[in-house]
Amino acid sequence: MSGQDDRGAIADEISGIVVGQGYESTTIGISAALEAADALIAAGYRKQPEPEITDKLVAMVRDMVDPDDCWFDHNGGCQAHGYISLQHGELCPQAEAKAWLASLAVPVGAGEQG
Ligand SMILES: [Zn+2]
Repeated sequence: MSGQDDRGAIADEISGIVVGQGYESTTIGISAALEAADALIAAGYRKQPEPEITDKLVAMVRDMVDPDDCWFDHNGGCQAHGYISLQHGELCPQAEAKAWLASLAVPVGAGEQG
């Protein structure tokens, strides 16, 4: 998502805000909303993370995920991945990472090994 897309999306959101009550209520005009969006973007606000950041995070998580399945000890800890202080019912971070990648249709274990 580019800065221009952010500008429009932020301005749309701002221009939909109702200010005041009853007869006095109004919405923020689009030109004021665009000015506010410019100020927010200049201050570093982003509606969406930059795609390259998301891509990098996905690649990093994919490369860090262990393809081996979790195996839990009788206390609920994952012995396979060293998360031995997990309580019963808690997810191993490795399992959470795999579920996240699966939700993005990113195959696990596809990372390049250096
Ligand atoms: Zn695990």
